[in-house]
Amino acid sequence: MKLHEYQSKQIFNKYGIPIPKGRVAATAQEARQIAEELGGRVVIKSQVLVGGRGKAGGIRLAKSAEEAENLATQILSMEIKGLPVRKVLVDEAASIASEIYLGITNDRAARRPVMMASAAGGVDIEEVAAKNPEKIIKVHIDPLLGLRDYQARDIAASIDLPREHWRIFGQIARGLWDAYVACDATLAEINPLVITADRRIVALDGKMVLDDNALFRHPDLAEMRDLDVEAPSEIEARKYGLSFIKLDGNIGCMVNGAGLAMTTMDIIKLFGGEPANFLDIGGGASADKVAAALRIILSDPNVKAVLFNVFGGITRGDEVARGILAALAEVKTNVPMVIRLVGTNAEEGRRILADAKMITAETLADAARKAVAVAQAA
Ligand code: GDP
Ligand code: MN
Repeated sequence: MKLHEYQSKQIFNKYGIPIPKGRVAATAQEARQIAEELGGRVVIKSQVLVGGRGKAGGIRLAKSAEEAENLATQILSMEIKGLPVRKVLVDEAASIASEIYLGITNDRAARRPVMMASAAGGVDIEEVAAKNPEKIIKVHIDPLLGLRDYQARDIAASIDLPREHWRIFGQIARGLWDAYVACDATLAEINPLVITADRRIVALDGKMVLDDNALFRHPDLAEMRDLDVEAPSEIEARKYGLSFIKLDGNIGCMVNGAGLAMTTMDIIKLFGGEPANFLDIGGGASADKVAAALRIILSDPNVKAVLFNVFGGITRGDEVARGILAALAEVKTNVPMVIRLVGTNAEEGRRILADAKMITAETLADAARKAVAVAQAA
């Protein structure tokens, strides 16, 4: 789950990282009010969960409260990379002497977090990473020991940070690490961390990505989720506790178990088809969960066939069958459905489904072949 800039910066601030004064606004009038409080010279920043807002015109400097209101009106009517701008952050404007990049993420290959820093921070950091990777320095952090003071000093030296800033830089690097650990983040990034004309260091931009699997430990953070960035089907799926990811193919998949779902997708591809989604209905799924899953799959207009692959262990075949019938009573559809149902109560399940006009299959290969065939015929 991605956090907005204003949310990330509030968290950073709690961990001792200096941020500009400012507040978030949902209307241009509010933006004007905040600008007045801050003395007029402000930066108006679109709050959307994509990178490159600056280059897309979503970050603008205002010299007065009136200009702030006008720019906020413009920015609040923008769409950036397909996402509507619903809020702007109004921050006191900084005069920038230099821009630093500082971030932490997990380095899977090294099996530990890595802190990255560069003196060439700012909006072109991706280009720097591609063309001059030597300008980005990386320091791995032992997850048990945490970031050590000497590591922060090493980083400061490597990016040629003037000595006068080392102490505060150490505090910022440590704060970023502490925030990263405390929030179960997979990314915590400041770009740019600026040195201002009056020689202060401030985090001008902030970005955090949190591990969805750890959100249950952070109800306060989970509440910050912005639903705009997710496909509506994925939001609906989460409500029912389904693991669902929308894909671009035309064969909807309804499967119990993540491994079986991956296998089903592989086999569909093996027979020349393309899956429309990944879906794990989970172990012991009840009829209403199955019905929700089928509704979600059928809400995708690309879906030309649905393949049910249910291996009944904890999940009972009759429950699945009843869920399918309940969903079909609700959603009228002509989409052909192929079902492979084995395991606990499979016979009873098949009997329940006998008059649902579903195509049955014995093996997974048989089911995939049939699903690909009916999808192609549609
Ligand atoms: P991003 O484009 O989404 O990464 O948004 P940022 O918050 O990083 O802003 C992009 C760029 O706008 C920064 O690298 C700065 O150069 C500039 N910028 C942002 N805030 C200010 C500010 O307060 N004053 C000045 N002069 N420039 C700013
Ligand atoms: Mn940025």
